[in-house]
Amino acid sequence: MSVAALIVAAGRGSRLKGNIAKQYLALNNNTILRETVKNFTEHPQVDYVTVVINRKDLNLYKKSIKNLKVTNPVEGGKTRQDSVRLGLNSLKKIFPKKVLIHDAARPFIEKKYITKIISELDKKPGAVLAIPVTDTLKLFKKKSSTLITISRKNIVQSQTPQGFHYDKIRKAHNNLTKYRVTDDAAVAEKAKIPVKIIKGDPKNFKITTKEDYMRAKEIAKTKPSLELGDIRIGQGFDIHSFTPGNFITLYGVKIKHRMALSGHSDADVGLHSITDAILGALAMGDIGQHFPSSEKKWKNASSLIFLNFALDALQKKNGKIINLDSTIICESPKINKWKTKITIRLSKILKIEKNRISIKGTTTDKLGFLGRQEGIAAQSIISISLRD
Ligand code: ZN
Repeated sequence: MSVAALIVAAGRGSRLKGNIAKQYLALNNNTILRETVKNFTEHPQVDYVTVVINRKDLNLYKKSIKNLKVTNPVEGGKTRQDSVRLGLNSLKKIFPKKVLIHDAARPFIEKKYITKIISELDKKPGAVLAIPVTDTLKLFKKKSSTLITISRKNIVQSQTPQGFHYDKIRKAHNNLTKYRVTDDAAVAEKAKIPVKIIKGDPKNFKITTKEDYMRAKEIAKTKPSLELGDIRIGQGFDIHSFTPGNFITLYGVKIKHRMALSGHSDADVGLHSITDAILGALAMGDIGQHFPSSEKKWKNASSLIFLNFALDALQKKNGKIINLDSTIICESPKINKWKTKITIRLSKILKIEKNRISIKGTTTDKLGFLGRQEGIAAQSIISISLRD
């Protein structure tokens, strides 16, 4: 009862950017195609994933699917229809029971829709995703220059994946080479294969225009689907004591205060704890090891130097910060007031979105040296993903 997915990525047309076929444009640090394929390779009920490509794109393809569990790619034909037929015929050796045919430029297909189609194919030989039409439909009569409104009832817009019993849709495609169709539901229609319509998802749109691509990039940003890679957690703790002065620096933000912080560099406990958290996640020791406080040149230096050193090390390993959770522990100043400013600043320094940064302030309830206001402590936890 195996299930195969056939991803159609042979088209080379692009209205978007230069000569690159749109499925190879960047999305989420990789390509649109990778995001699309992952939805199927990560689905527990899909046994085989085959991509139909254009031979000229072989290198782009190989880069896109690196480390994903896919079968050898199949070379497509002149039209989408030809490509699907060639793809279906290439699955003959596997001879799956069910096959799902999907457009490479629909990266936002959610797994639950794939599950629905697969289970519907237990009852029917075909199952197709479609969404209702919301715009009013008009038929234009050229001769009389009139518009005639058409009822939207029973009219839907088909999407992919479209799922079928493999033997049926393969035969139908091979018997239909003389007709030109634009999707596989049309092939099923000609072959009289009954099809169940499953309500699709507007988010599962096909990236066609520049506007679609912009929208896709916006959606990708909000999805936590940074490809996980090698996940690490690091923590850093730092503390500095007060000394006479009139301002302190926390997370790179200058804050007026009745005291200053003494110690290494500008004594920015916030940035020091973040630097140590990153170094910790990379198993690269700690800040003191790389920038000994005994060395005079670091006196009054900006702590950004240390943080940038850790960020460079992260970059060299093709790493990305997933999130940061940092807490300042002191009786005063009250961090709440500075939270927004600090978050904006850190978002720029760390090059991550603001919603991946948490800055908190707490006290020790007047207990101990922090409670007696002898200094400020900071604690940071950071998670990173290494993709090499
Ligand atoms: Zn420090």
